[in-house]
Amino acid sequence: MHVLVLNCGSSSLKAALIHSVSGKRVRHAQVERIGDGATLSVDALESTKVDATDHSSALTLVLALFAADSVQAVGHRVVHGGAAFTRPTAIDDDVEQGIEAVSGLAPLHNPANLAGIRAARAALPNVPHVAVFDTAFHATLPRRARTYALPFALAESDAFRRYGFHGPSHSFVAKRAAESLEEDIRDLRIISCHLGNGASACAVEYGRSVDVSMGLTPLEGLVMGTRSGDMDPGLVLQLVREYGVDRVDTLLNRESGLAGLSGVGGDLRDVEAAAENGDDRAGLAIAVAAHRLRKYIASFAAVMGGVDVVVFTGGIGENSGAMRHRALQRMEFMGIRLDETANRTARASAGEPVVSLHRMNSRVRVLAVHTDEEQAIAQAALRVMNRADQAEGETIPVAISARHVHLSQAHVEALFGVGSTLTPEVELTQPGQFACKERVSLVGSRGRIDKVRVIGPARGRTQVEVARTDEFKLGVDAPVRMSGDLDNTPGLTLEGPEGSVDLESGVICSQRHIHMTPADAERFGVSHKDVVEVALDTDGRDLVFGDVVVRVKDSYALEMHVDTDEGNAAELVRGVHGVLSTTGRVASIRRRDDRFDPTESPS
Ligand code: ADP
Repeated sequence: MHVLVLNCGSSSLKAALIHSVSGKRVRHAQVERIGDGATLSVDALESTKVDATDHSSALTLVLALFAADSVQAVGHRVVHGGAAFTRPTAIDDDVEQGIEAVSGLAPLHNPANLAGIRAARAALPNVPHVAVFDTAFHATLPRRARTYALPFALAESDAFRRYGFHGPSHSFVAKRAAESLEEDIRDLRIISCHLGNGASACAVEYGRSVDVSMGLTPLEGLVMGTRSGDMDPGLVLQLVREYGVDRVDTLLNRESGLAGLSGVGGDLRDVEAAAENGDDRAGLAIAVAAHRLRKYIASFAAVMGGVDVVVFTGGIGENSGAMRHRALQRMEFMGIRLDETANRTARASAGEPVVSLHRMNSRVRVLAVHTDEEQAIAQAALRVMNRADQAEGETIPVAISARHVHLSQAHVEALFGVGSTLTPEVELTQPGQFACKERVSLVGSRGRIDKVRVIGPARGRTQVEVARTDEFKLGVDAPVRMSGDLDNTPGLTLEGPEGSVDLESGVICSQRHIHMTPADAERFGVSHKDVVEVALDTDGRDLVFGDVVVRVKDSYALEMHVDTDEGNAAELVRGVHGVLSTTGRVASIRRRDDRFDPTESPS
């Protein structure tokens, strides 16, 4: 089965047939100059003249070549999702209207994208259609990064904020980079530089976009083929006074950038060739573009408090050793050491999608990564379909995990006598775990709690899990942590019938979490360590819990755990189920030390 990926411009339609499992591109077709001497090229072969007066007739031509009955889903590239669309979304009439409603933000792109959506929904009415937005990956930008310093009412308006673009590419290459390094993307700070005809840099902190060089429109940021990128807004005003808005629009979008400065066009290959032949303007164009890129790389490292990986992608990023060299020279102070010899000729390609460019002693890894936006869109469409098919209406059982203690075998013996082992009394939902007959007392500086359950089997390290109310009673101040994450936690004294143990550390207030199997995670469309929201519908005390960590393991049983305080706050009784929110706001990935940002109120 295949996913059809459609990317429609105002007078063009690009279509790719992507194999659902292998991700391979089976066929590709492109219709250009729709409505005015249209041409069709298939699999990059020479183009032929065709009769295509609109997107609908162009699509009919393409589908005739594409074995349309093998199409399982259609993924549509949509440039602007505005504030409304923060993740790939299954298209129905409402979504179509929603895309239309934000079209004012991308007047050159969204109407064309919509024309493609309408034509494809009419031609393939029985398969799901999914909109994949350029802006969606950047929905996680913190408020400080997405806000322009305008008068507040304007700054807060969705019409005047940073959105960022190239989302599918940035997220695709960031994942590809992490995979090739065999590291978890949630542990990496990645600067992704997508350098094609359009270009943007993105700070991907632990899997989330936290800053991006493009803004409300794709004009801000880096120097591009024909776009200026950043400049003094005062300069724009001067230009407008002199030439008028429409002229300046064309000037900044189509006549600036590498093309404008060099005079030899916006293709970097031509600019580099001219510069090598001593053309001063071409040399200046390259120097200005590289200088801007260096500034973004260094500033995004500052934004993330460091950088672990720099990724170059897009036609320039994948191929131009000279641009990569200029962007990263004299960056040793940041721990970036480029392998100049390897870099000079290195190219990323479909055949060799990831190429290492750093020296052995470079703290920061530098990679050229081949991007594949069509594959990224196909993957996103499939994920949406799987989620819609399987997880719709499915709920998660919620259980209260009352205060309890896990003991090491040494502490079992210290508390209950030499040679003692734990005695199972009740089996718990998570396979292999049991509540024990044994009880202990917790003794803190302010008070004690008796008859606290021990949960078996014995573990490598003793851990005490209490609720906030318990902490007040005991006089301990424990952090909210996941089980097993015990560094820098407080201790207390455990008392048993045969002795006591002074713990130096190990007391936590358990972070709410969901246990699930890999199959559950697939159905819900989440991954290990994702942070999600779960809505509980209880008797008069409905509550939506945020900051719920997903824990995935083969041996787990699907269940969410909250502590007694949380359970009481929601009036939780046995048998309550929660609903995993799939609004996109929530399935974000955050690391614990990234969660609290004193400079910003949650938004
Ligand atoms: P788009 O943004 O349209 O998808 P691409 O990602 O294909 O564009 O990138 C096009 C840019 O990549 C052009 O500026 C082109 O000059 C540049 N490029 C492609 N190959 C090379 C190369 N070998 N050396 C330098 N630049 C290259």
